[in-house]
Amino acid sequence: MKVLVLNCGSSTVKYKLFSMGEDRVLAKGLAERIGSPGSRIVHRVEGRDEYILEKDLPGHQEAVEAILYILTGGEYGVISDVDEIKAVGHRVVHGGNYFNKSVVVSDDVLGLLGECGRLAPLHNPPNITGIQACKKMMPGAVQVAVLDTAFHQTMPEYAYMYALPYEMYDKHLIRKYGFHGISHKYVAGVSAGMLDARPEELKIITCHLGNGASLCAISGGKSVDTTMGFTPLAGLIMGTRCGDIDPAIIQYMAEKNNIGLGEVMEVLNKKSGVLGISGVSSDFRDVEKAALEGHHRSALALDMFSYSVARAIGSLVPALGGLDALVFTAGIGENSPGIRWRVCSRLKYMGIQLDEQINPAKGERIEISVPGSAVRVLVIPTDEERMIAEETRAVVEECNCSADVPGEKKRVICELTGTNVMIS
Ligand code: ADP
Repeated sequence: MKVLVLNCGSSTVKYKLFSMGEDRVLAKGLAERIGSPGSRIVHRVEGRDEYILEKDLPGHQEAVEAILYILTGGEYGVISDVDEIKAVGHRVVHGGNYFNKSVVVSDDVLGLLGECGRLAPLHNPPNITGIQACKKMMPGAVQVAVLDTAFHQTMPEYAYMYALPYEMYDKHLIRKYGFHGISHKYVAGVSAGMLDARPEELKIITCHLGNGASLCAISGGKSVDTTMGFTPLAGLIMGTRCGDIDPAIIQYMAEKNNIGLGEVMEVLNKKSGVLGISGVSSDFRDVEKAALEGHHRSALALDMFSYSVARAIGSLVPALGGLDALVFTAGIGENSPGIRWRVCSRLKYMGIQLDEQINPAKGERIEISVPGSAVRVLVIPTDEERMIAEETRAVVEECNCSADVPGEKKRVICELTGTNVMIS
């Protein structure tokens, strides 16, 4: 089965085409600067030169059209017809309370995802535009939404509620949702294999440390708590986001700087975190280099970041009632031995012992704790696209449906998804 994975941002579309049976990535790429001058698609096929298509891409529809054109044609094509793509897996950031798993995108589902757009106004609208473009361009493919929030829908009520008046939840759906669920679920699955254990018997904390960063407490394969909240601004200190702060600071900042709430939120989202503290960069490579050269604020930013991770790990242990393993993933988690060391050094009291010879490894699946460490520590490169592809295949196989199949067809309501589909 060929599955196309799409991740549509406001001005970008990232794509990867998988051949699931062969477990191969046939092609991948990025359409960028959509809607602006200089838009282009960078397309990669293993074993061939990178191909760049400079093309005016006014919207996502045109971007998807151009991606399909490249995938199916000429020197850089990898399939002969769009119909070979059985399903498209779309990363969708917010599924609200509606979705606890990946779902075929019917018109009803699309409506609900649109409704969730009020909870993720920057993310859901481009995700939905991408789905609409694919529905139009690829009527023969099943469109599946794979949601970043779905994995966290297993959190107990006492973990996801905020201590606000209950109507805030009832009327306005204000609660903790959590994000990065696709990545947390993926590395949790891989870790069970590395620990030679069944997911049902494991208590782990996964640390997704990238530009955005969050931790997830996973018990028996299910998310039971996470550090991000109503939005991805909450929890850990991040590259440019402040993470948890006293909410009273918001009004105070607005008054003292004579700025509106929108501007305050902009500062909290884009000018805070490691960038705001160091004044150097949001990229840990730059900040680590500056700290090594003696730049105090960079060293402080790294201390604050690793302390916020260690403190959050400690705070998640009660959600699990114990801890078998800690898993590091994403750009920083996979590539910064320094941050892993700083975090784990603060957790020695839990019996965590890093192997200092192995910890310097970068970007590979590896166990970095010493044998006998009370909590095992793993590094697992995340692969969100693969997870989306696998979820998409599972949804299609589970409901045994296709949007359109050649030959004899009948229109039925899929029992699993309630979707109107064609079935052979
Ligand atoms: P995103 O959240 O955008 O997917 P990534 O998971 O790709 O982010 O992480 C990006 C971050 O990873 C970069 O900003 C950088 O701080 C960090 N990073 C990448 N490589 C290294 C490295 N070798 N050492 C330290 N940090 C790194």
